[in-house]
Amino acid sequence: MSQYPELAAKFGTPAYVYDLDVVAESRDQLFGLLPEGFQLYYALKANPHPEIARELRSGGCRAEISSTGELANALAAGFEPGEILYTGPGKTNGELEHAIATGVRTFSVESLSDLQHVGAAAEKHGVTVSCLLRVNTTQGSASSGIRMMGRPSQFGIDAETLPSLMPALKAVPGTRVVGAHFFTMSNAQDEDSLLSEYEFVLQSAAQLRREVGLPLEFLDIGGGFSSPYAVPGPRTDYPKLRAGLEVLLDLYLPEWRDGGIELACESGRYLSGSSGSLLAGVVNVKESRGQRFVILDAGINALGGLSGIGRLLPAAVGVEGEEFQVGSLVGPLCTPGDSLAKAAKLPELSVGDVVTVPNVGAYGVTASLISFLGRPAPTEVVVRGADVVSVSRLDYQRAYEVSP
Ligand SMILES: *Cc1c(COP(=O)(O)O)cnc(C)c1O
Repeated sequence: MSQYPELAAKFGTPAYVYDLDVVAESRDQLFGLLPEGFQLYYALKANPHPEIARELRSGGCRAEISSTGELANALAAGFEPGEILYTGPGKTNGELEHAIATGVRTFSVESLSDLQHVGAAAEKHGVTVSCLLRVNTTQGSASSGIRMMGRPSQFGIDAETLPSLMPALKAVPGTRVVGAHFFTMSNAQDEDSLLSEYEFVLQSAAQLRREVGLPLEFLDIGGGFSSPYAVPGPRTDYPKLRAGLEVLLDLYLPEWRDGGIELACESGRYLSGSSGSLLAGVVNVKESRGQRFVILDAGINALGGLSGIGRLLPAAVGVEGEEFQVGSLVGPLCTPGDSLAKAAKLPELSVGDVVTVPNVGAYGVTASLISFLGRPAPTEVVVRGADVVSVSRLDYQRAYEVSP
């Protein structure tokens, strides 16, 4: 984006720049990939920035959250409590009561005891809440992406236990089981694995309804949509998805055509990933034993602290043309782990230059080690095209006194 140098000069580095026009484009693209009538939940964990969440809501997204912090961000973004799905394996009583007092009425539950906790909090407030049973399916079909199910897990109720558990699940005071939630895969690289995963989910849901009476007023089939992380490139297109999903729905849950079942998908990275870039300043350049190290003012404290679940660096910075140097991109932290890329292709860089890491609107600040070594959090600049909408920085280092 042509205004990056100007924004870096004005607001300093490290800075994230999020473009709301790209958020809107991503949202509209994903809605277009889904059959008519699908609800789309934005997983705020990818980027809880209220401006991003607000942009997604304005185009019809709902919010998927797992904490009171995310609840506060969702409300700040304008979401109505009724548009929020509360998920997660470790919902505390305090969180549940707060969410219910705020008006949240839909929860995804991961076990009978989780459902009982939700029910107890609902009863305290004199309400009944809707619950989706998150199902840990017995196996899956996809060959790529991150499989989250089929193994022992803190997520979901093991499908094979549903026959014996169903009566108890349906009888928890304060709750009404209205459907199911599957989230079996993240970051699927190809359309076929996404479709075969959805086939497995729809087949499982239909079978559980038939055989054990799983209610299916509402079915969240999960996500898995992929978007590049910290490297250049477009969001994945899934040209066969919409038609493919319609065929599967007709096969397994034909009443979907008449609105007999509310369907939903969810995504974090696809909706916000491509909207953001990280601008980092070059603090120093050094040679060590024949290798070049470009030291930036942003490392894993600003980007990529969350490794191990598909958000693996190396990052790439833009190289134009054929001219490049090979070197390591490292951050400022006092740990050899603070590396953004090794043996990367880099442009000619010197102190004071600004590099841009693309496609980091998801799992950027929120998934990084921002308090490690006490550097200020990166500035977050929200733009809409050429206009600056907001500029902020998280405050995380202040210690608040806690009274007993
Ligand atoms: C993390 C998460 C998401 C978002 O995952 P992406 O890969 O960013 O789309 C959606 N749903 C649930 C339940 C999650 O835990």
